[in-house]
Amino acid sequence: MNIPQSDKKRIVIIGGGFAGLTLGKKLRKSDYQVVLLDRNNFHTFQPLLYQVATAGLEPDSITYPIRKVFQKYPDFYFRMAEVDRIDADKQCVFTNIGELPYDYLVIATGAKSNFFGNDQVENYSMPMKSIRDSLDLRSLLLQNFEEALIANSVTEKERLMSIVIVGAGPTGVELSGALAELKSRVLPSDYPDLDISQMRIILVDGADKVLPAMSGEASKKAFEYLDKLGVEIKLNMFVKDYDGKRIHTNDGTIESKTLIWSAGVLGNPVSGISLSKEKKENRANRYEIDEFFKLKDHPNVFAIGDVASMATETLPQGHPMLASVACQQGEYLAQNFKNLSKEKEPKPFAYNDKGAMATIGTNKAVADLPGLKTQGFFAWFLWMFVHLFLLIGFRNRAVALMNWIWAYVTYDTGVRLIIRPYKRKE
Ligand SMILES: Cc1cc2nc3c(=O)[nH]c(=O)nc-3n(C[C@H](O)[C@H](O)[C@H](O)COP(=O)(O)OP(=O)(O)OC[C@H]3O[C@@H](n4cnc5c(N)ncnc54)[C@H](O)[C@@H]3O)c2cc1C
Repeated sequence: MNIPQSDKKRIVIIGGGFAGLTLGKKLRKSDYQVVLLDRNNFHTFQPLLYQVATAGLEPDSITYPIRKVFQKYPDFYFRMAEVDRIDADKQCVFTNIGELPYDYLVIATGAKSNFFGNDQVENYSMPMKSIRDSLDLRSLLLQNFEEALIANSVTEKERLMSIVIVGAGPTGVELSGALAELKSRVLPSDYPDLDISQMRIILVDGADKVLPAMSGEASKKAFEYLDKLGVEIKLNMFVKDYDGKRIHTNDGTIESKTLIWSAGVLGNPVSGISLSKEKKENRANRYEIDEFFKLKDHPNVFAIGDVASMATETLPQGHPMLASVACQQGEYLAQNFKNLSKEKEPKPFAYNDKGAMATIGTNKAVADLPGLKTQGFFAWFLWMFVHLFLLIGFRNRAVALMNWIWAYVTYDTGVRLIIRPYKRKE
């Protein structure tokens, strides 16, 4: 990999997401050589993936080149590499571009979609975990309308114009709201010869409420907002099977050529350090770590972010899989590495719960913050402010803000482009 040998101890970080990137940044003034590996040469701001999918933002306003973040970092190396395996005994990672020995290894590989073992659903549904997924979804949604214009059969038209979103957590709720606004504000002008009122947005969840992890007030208000926007909400409904055209549920079938899967995530561990069956099931496939982020039985290996689960008295399944948690963990671990090099005691992780938010549409959001539960315009404004603040890079913030102001004033979004057509699975 052409990483120079150095007298310093080497920390290898796998993953340039929220956790790995924060850790790398905070290690800037440290006594270590740092190597960051990621399969992509960019960081993705996942909370706004749904806006790319619904043509609200360009992909490059929510992604950022990793090399640009670390331009002036001494003894820091980034390699674009897919890590295939870890050999903890040899203290080495194996990648598609070669192998790399480490003194300390940090696994920050995030999460993947959980299809609950349903291969058919996995094959035909659209996940939303990466920028490529979002672009595929954007293309598919627009291709569907182009096809609906020329469809001859009523059933085919129905299938093309019905979008089913599974999972009424923040992603499903935000996506449904954005699609409903697209339906009311944009599509009628783009497709004057198509009866857009026939478009259905159906949000399905096995639970008995939307946003089940948020407060009762937030859940109730989000339901109300979605209902007003015309989203059909089907609770206590489970998807059993899907063949790309017809969705089978515990309560009948739905004709649709677009099933968006946002019904859950699992940790994304790297092979070589395996998880026991019990951990796979009880900890959502995440590495069990102690309060210093260390893996049991592997003293030089740490895990942070979505792939790690630190059980505490109040959170026996580990912390929520959120960007704010991943960033906090990255910061803490960097400080502990600095303490280690100065032979100081490490600090156990103390989680600062920053709350949760979801936006349903313009002027419509819900926020459960420590000491404040709020809904409506103020929550929406807060949501925008927080997301702008968290986006990396001034350009990305400026472009996102401009797009949002433009959409607010004109009721229009600018990037309804099919650049790379999506090839539907047959
Ligand atoms: C659609 C969506 C909406 C979300 N909305 C919110 C929200 O509103 N608020 C919130 O707080 N959180 C939200 N989240 C969750 C949040 O994005 C995650 O908690 C956060 O990204 C976790 O950070 P991480 O660093 O652990 O993993 P990630 O950010 O996923 O980063 C993992 C990195 O590891 C790399 N990688 C993985 N495997 C390998 C490998 N084998 N080799 C090399 N590189 C690898 C990936 O390329 C990636 O860059 C959302 C997530 C999604 C998918």
